[in-house]
Amino acid sequence: MPGFEVFGVEEKKEIDEVLATGVLFRYEFPQERRGIYKVRQFEEDFARYCGVAHAQAVSSGTAALKVALTAMGVGPGDEVITQGFTFVATWEAIFDVGALPIFAEVDDTLNLDPANLESKITAKTKAIIPVHMLGAPARIKEIKAIADRYQIPVLEDTAQAPGAGIDGRKCGSFGLCGTFSFDPVKTLTTGEGGMIVTDDQDLWRKMSEYHDHGHDHIKNPGGRGGERRSFIGFNFRMMELQGAIGLAQLAKLDGIVAAQRRNKETLAKLVAELPGVSFRTVPDPAGDNASFLAFFLPDEVTTKQVNAILGQNGAGAVYFANNTWHYYPKWEHLLAASTLARSGWPFKEADGRRRVHYDPKALPQSAALIDRLLVYPVPVKLTDERLEQIAKAVKAAKAAG
Ligand SMILES: *Cc1c(COP(=O)(O)O)cnc(C)c1O
Repeated sequence: MPGFEVFGVEEKKEIDEVLATGVLFRYEFPQERRGIYKVRQFEEDFARYCGVAHAQAVSSGTAALKVALTAMGVGPGDEVITQGFTFVATWEAIFDVGALPIFAEVDDTLNLDPANLESKITAKTKAIIPVHMLGAPARIKEIKAIADRYQIPVLEDTAQAPGAGIDGRKCGSFGLCGTFSFDPVKTLTTGEGGMIVTDDQDLWRKMSEYHDHGHDHIKNPGGRGGERRSFIGFNFRMMELQGAIGLAQLAKLDGIVAAQRRNKETLAKLVAELPGVSFRTVPDPAGDNASFLAFFLPDEVTTKQVNAILGQNGAGAVYFANNTWHYYPKWEHLLAASTLARSGWPFKEADGRRRVHYDPKALPQSAALIDRLLVYPVPVKLTDERLEQIAKAVKAAKAAG
């Protein structure tokens, strides 16, 4: 959990500056705040870090997806393609704007398979959301080329990969926009929080106004409260304390990534001892944010056996095939069309007709990979004790194999 592993005096200093003004709101109060605009500064620094023109801070990574899709005009009648290996938030946001999530296969990058993506495109596809899962980039150039050919915008879910990139260009900056999360288990954390980055000024203005009840963020003729609105909005605002923490965390991002890369390399050397092991393909190893070490064993049975031994030795890996939050066949509420809405929306139309059925066996290529996948989270601070524990566990697994 890297973000809070590196909490220190820097975060405290930023927070204290906010508390000294008494202004926790990101807008207004020009006298009281004495020039302190932490969320705005966090946006500016984050955009610069990603190499894009604009950034919009929001209340979570899920809100970032929702605000981005809304500003892109995606809604009922539309389809959005994403992958069947991601956090539930990606498709929750698609449903929440009224569109239907269409799930495509991942390849050995553990991210969207470009060829399978192309086979899922229909006349209704209005956005494509590749997810840069587990810290490493998707084949984003290939995905973008396909999307361009069909003139479909790409939203990169970069929640798990701030600082990652390809050929020196940051993930989140390839598509029309990219979203980030700062929840407690992400590379940077503000407790709760999210960001959307884009070079498109019009899209940015829409996101900015939508996330703030439609307030006019350009003219604001009568001051906040007196102006008119261009469209209906909602409240997904980030507050100053989160912006303050985000600023301190962002300044540490390159250091976090560098430490994770060193630790990942150390762990990979140990894991390489396992018979038949192979590693996840990372399109540009120099652009790995290295939050996770992902590796495959030859078959499902071996994978489970090895992980049982690792676990008995205190160093069990994450087996995503059993993970109920990140893997399509384990999303029982999606498969069972469970919803609080009396009408059955979003799985049924208002008149009761079923809109969609999700088949648990729809993604065999993903299953063939994820059934053989083990993952170690890579800490920023890897202690000698932990390293020794993993080394011993790997040795035990090797001896048993
Ligand atoms: C964490 C995460 C999100 C959602 O972020 P929250 O800030 O927790 O709402 C979205 N997509 C992916 C891939 C994530 O890992």
